[in-house]
This record gives sequence, structure tokens and C-alpha cells, in this order.
Amino acid sequence: MHDCDVAIIGAGPAGAVAAKFLHDAGLSVIVLEAQTFPRFVIGESLLPNCMNILERAGFLDAVEEAGFQFKNGAVFERGPQYQAIDFRENFETDGWGTTFQVQRARFDKILTDHATNAGIDIRFGHKVTRAELAKGECQLTFENDQGAVEHLRSGFVLDASGYGRVLPRMLGIARSDHSTERRALFTHIQDNITDQDYDRNKILITVHPTHHEIWYWLIPFSDGTSSVGVIFPDQDPKWSAMEQQDIFDTLINETRLGTLLADAKPTRPLNAIAGYSAQSDQLFGDGYALLGNSAGFLDPVFSSGVTIALQSAEMAAKVLIEHHQGKDVDWQKDYADPLEKGVATFRSYVDAWYDERLQTIIFNQPTDDTQIKRMVVSILAGYAWNIDNPLVSKTDHYLKMLHDLCDQS
Ligand code: FAD
Repeated sequence: MHDCDVAIIGAGPAGAVAAKFLHDAGLSVIVLEAQTFPRFVIGESLLPNCMNILERAGFLDAVEEAGFQFKNGAVFERGPQYQAIDFRENFETDGWGTTFQVQRARFDKILTDHATNAGIDIRFGHKVTRAELAKGECQLTFENDQGAVEHLRSGFVLDASGYGRVLPRMLGIARSDHSTERRALFTHIQDNITDQDYDRNKILITVHPTHHEIWYWLIPFSDGTSSVGVIFPDQDPKWSAMEQQDIFDTLINETRLGTLLADAKPTRPLNAIAGYSAQSDQLFGDGYALLGNSAGFLDPVFSSGVTIALQSAEMAAKVLIEHHQGKDVDWQKDYADPLEKGVATFRSYVDAWYDERLQTIIFNQPTDDTQIKRMVVSILAGYAWNIDNPLVSKTDHYLKMLHDLCDQS
């Protein structure tokens, strides 16, 4: 009596990739997406580990053909301090060391076009408003693109609704992370950068010279435009009296970005997001599992969002495929625990960034220990699930050791 084996809420990277894995394994899938694509979403700098998953899901050719900006690493700047990191110098024995910086409107459209061409039923303009969930028996209620209310029955639901966080909100398991309230201001620009030393193959992460909790991203695209944004603590009363554009311009001009982007022209209005760090009390339950941002979002500093979204999509699809093949599955052991392992690694890195341990490591790296450097680079390249890397298996222990070493140097 089901309309499909698996219903997916949301057609962002998590939803599209999960749908493709399931479809390729012979499960029937329907994706309900509230918006019509292309649509803007932030999250434009991919990590190399994304490429492995896109390749396994069969999206690689479509993404490579799109002409996105090549990316091989990151540059960190803090006042006069500078560190360039090449993702190809990582700890992995195989896997990608490069990736792309993508305008997400185009990237997400490419993924969904490719999935649709492969025969997956993606229904745009279909907004899920209610869910009844039980083992093997789920029903989603949604408003279709004509405004009519309809129902969809499936054996399982994957929630890939991103910032919509549809199931966590409905089930009362959404948790905002109030301890880290920060605001992001960002826009797209025609960057008009003429500085010959500027490396368009890397994301530029700039740290405010005196307020080290404030940082900026500059993500160049292949068409001469860039995404530029700043993250700063939201609670500081001095910001409340200022217009967002004034805050943005002031903060940019307090760093070298002011000179680098002196001739830049905005191509989008300034956007703001606050309170984006969120978690869910559980990642699965009877009849459902949460993917990507719906499961949780840490922080943008290491560009880990899309990587975690894709990793969760592949892991959840694997469990559903095994269940479909009649195997015993354990969502805690096969999905929640292994996913959390990598997320916890990123979480430790994020904590270490804001308490400045990681900034100390990045800006004071001993140049002679290339093996340790490779372990750090691996995580920055998105390989946060490889437990052969001591910085994954014992993240906090090694972060402390590295910090003490770099602090002395
Ligand atoms: P999304 O991409 O958000 O897709 C979810 C989809 O679900 C949307 O299309 C939405 O329309 C749909 N939806 C929502 N509600 C409903 C509903 N009721 N019914 C049907 N459909 C629904 N990540 C990176 O990897 N690199 C970066 O450089 C980066 N920078 C960031 C900067 C900032 C300031 C922030 C806040 C985040 C950043 N991220 C970055 C994170 C990134 O935005 C997300 O992690 C990523 O988009 C998550 O993908 P997703 O597929 O889970 O969700």
C-alpha cells in the first residue's frame, strides 16, 4: 500500500545523494522539496572527501563538467601571520585531495537534474507539513505546488530538510546550541581582485587581528565572483545600534580584506543568519532517520556542512539498503555511532578553533614534522571518519599534544 519504499524530505545535497544511492540499489524513492530549484543556499566551499561520496553516488561527471572553481586547500591569515594548507598533502592512502567551490544554487540543481534523469521522482514546490511515523508505516502530509494538501505513504522517511529541520521540530527533539550564538553576514561580489599573490584555488580564512573569535571567509568562484562573509559573536551590545551593512563594512575594513576587495561590487543583497548551530536529541527513531543539517549543524569554520550531509546520506542509505536486502540492521550501531564519530572530531576542531588552540597550531606549525601535519590536513580535507588517523581516534588527546608543541615553538 506504500507509494514508495523511502520518502525523503528535502532535495539539498543530503537528500539528492541519499535518493541516488537508494535508487541505484533498487529501492523506490520519492523526494518532496519545498522550494523550486535553482534556489540560493549558503555552504559553497566543499571538502575533498565530498568527491569520494559524489563519485560513489554517480554524480562525479556531472559535477566535474560544470566548470566550478577548482579548490586544493585553504589559506589562513591573522594579521601578519599566514599559513597555506594544501589538501593533497594529507594522511589518507587513497581518496581525493582536491575539490570545488560551488555556487550552491547551480550545484544543487545539477545534483537534482542528474537524479531526475536517472529516474528519481523529485517533486519541487511540495512542502511537508506533518508526519506520522511508525516502523514500516509512515505518512507525510504536504502542500503541493498547487496549494492542495496531499499524503504520501512510505516504509521509511529520511529527513534531509536542512535548516527546515522538519522532523526534529515536529518530534520535539531539536536543540539549539545557545552556547555558541554567533551571527553570519555574507554576500556575493564581483571581486575584481588584482593582487597577484591571491590564490583562487584556495578558500581564504581571515582571522580578525585582535578579536580572534571573529573570522571571515572568501570563497572565489570560477566566474570572477566570490562569496564573502564574516562570523562574529552576536551578543556584543555595540552591534545592536548598527545596520548590518555597516557592521559588515566595518569588520571587513579592519582586516587586509578591505584592501584586497577595494574594487569589489556586490551581486547579491547582504544576508544574515544567526543561531545556526543546532543539534537533535536523537538521529533516528521508528520509521525515520535524520540527515545533514536536519540532524545537526556545528559551525561553518571548516566548511564541513556539505561533507557531513553527504556522509550521513551514504551511511543512512547503506542501512536502508541492507534492511531491504533482508539483513538485520541496528540504526544506533550502523548509523548514529559511526556518523557521530566524525562529527565529534569536527566538534573538537571547532571548539579548539574558538578557544584558539587550533589557531595556535595552524599559525605555529613546526615545519619539520610532516606526518603530524598530514594528520591535521586530513581532517581539514574532510577525512574525519578515518580512525587510522590518530587525530580522529584520539582527537582531544592529540590536539592538546599538538597545541603544547606549537605553543612552545
Ligand atoms: P540543505 O542544503 O539546506 O537542503 C535542505 C532542503 O530541504 C532545502 O532545499 C529546503 O528547501 C528543503 N526543505 C526544508 N523544509 C522543507 C519542508 N517542510 N518540506 C520539503 N522540503 C523542505 N557547508 C560547507 O560544506 N561549506 C561551506 O563553506 C559552508 N559555509 C557555511 C556558512 C554558513 C554561514 C552556514 C550557516 C553554513 C555553512 N555551511 C557550509 C553548511 C551548509 O550550509 C549545510 O551544512 C548544507 O547546506 C547542508 O545540506 P543539507 O542537504 O542537509 O540541507
